[in-house]
Amino acid sequence: MTATRSNITTTGADPRLAGGRLTIDLDALVANWRLLAEKSPADTGAVVKADAYGLGIVHVVPVLWQAGCRTFFAALPEEGLRVKAVAPDARVFVLNGFFAEAFPVYEQSNLIPVLGSLHELSLWKKLNKGRKDKLPFALNVDTGMNRLGLNVDEGLAFAADGRAEKPILLITHLATADDRAHALNQKQFESFQELRAAFAGIESSIANSPGIFHPASREFDLNRPGVAIYGGEPLSDTPNPMRPVVTLEARIVQIQTGVKGETVGYGATTTLQRDTRIAICSVGYADGYLRSASGSGVPLRNAVPGGGEGFVAGKKVPIIGRITMDLTSFDITNLAEDAVKPGDYIELFGPNIALDDAARSAGTIGYELLTSLGNRYHRRYLHSGQSD
Ligand SMILES: *Cc1c(COP(=O)(O)O)cnc(C)c1O
Repeated sequence: MTATRSNITTTGADPRLAGGRLTIDLDALVANWRLLAEKSPADTGAVVKADAYGLGIVHVVPVLWQAGCRTFFAALPEEGLRVKAVAPDARVFVLNGFFAEAFPVYEQSNLIPVLGSLHELSLWKKLNKGRKDKLPFALNVDTGMNRLGLNVDEGLAFAADGRAEKPILLITHLATADDRAHALNQKQFESFQELRAAFAGIESSIANSPGIFHPASREFDLNRPGVAIYGGEPLSDTPNPMRPVVTLEARIVQIQTGVKGETVGYGATTTLQRDTRIAICSVGYADGYLRSASGSGVPLRNAVPGGGEGFVAGKKVPIIGRITMDLTSFDITNLAEDAVKPGDYIELFGPNIALDDAARSAGTIGYELLTSLGNRYHRRYLHSGQSD
């Protein structure tokens, strides 16, 4: 039996001086990874690009490693090195292509590039020429994104080339996996089956977070979830099965009263319909709380016309007026007079406001909210170790 450890690690700004705080529940993160790992007979890795979706490679990778995750995907070699620094025995793939000047780093660090063009393949071959032991690489074949990767015909020709060094991993990336009814999914799975057969015996990887929920992904060897580990919703058409991982809260700085008929904020985009109590909170677009979630004055947003909400004193309260660089205002008229005071925290997303709902209010996706989180927050990482 393992002893229960209660553990809070804090980083970032001093909480006495910061405007907002982020709480990152590493137990929930580990539970999410396990849920994904148990869902599929394939091996499950973790995508930790953009500093683990904004949550910090240095905090996220060790707990995933401890939970049994052995393969990590970074976007850039610099990120891959940071994974290696905290998990030296991890297998780390670098997704975003290959430049010759990075080769010495690959030689020294055991990072594995994901090559995705004939140009990159020939560069890699040339740079490996002098070596007795050729360095391993993965191959990306594009089956429908038109982003990175060889096209399918190039991939098949490469598989048939008897003189070519073979990759240790074959990957493709799904363009529409979050929309299970989309016809492109089927086409991509079929193309990848054909490629997998041509690269017989080589490990294959197709599923991102939503891809794991497609039965067709079960036939491949390695899953590459990202956002669902961090609590984001994998599918747009079903309730989110993942536990929330990140809570964002901001401090109430002042409480003001606006008079019926007056306006609020830059551009005077909201006219008060009643006398209104307004909580001015210490968070803004400089903290990644996107201006497009403003309560008014954002003509480009159409999914959620009223903008974002906060949660405080047990109730949801709407944003009023425009989000500014460092401050956001909430209409708290519907709360009891003494329900909140300066210094209290208001939740912007977390257990009471889903990350993806906060994102939709800004006309975007949970991925963008997480990776935009600024560096002015006090950060708390909770890890009891009980799910390890
Ligand atoms: C970002 C990324 C993933 C992870 O996608 P999620 O939707 O976050 O699960 C997987 N594979 C590739 C190639 C990626 O770029």
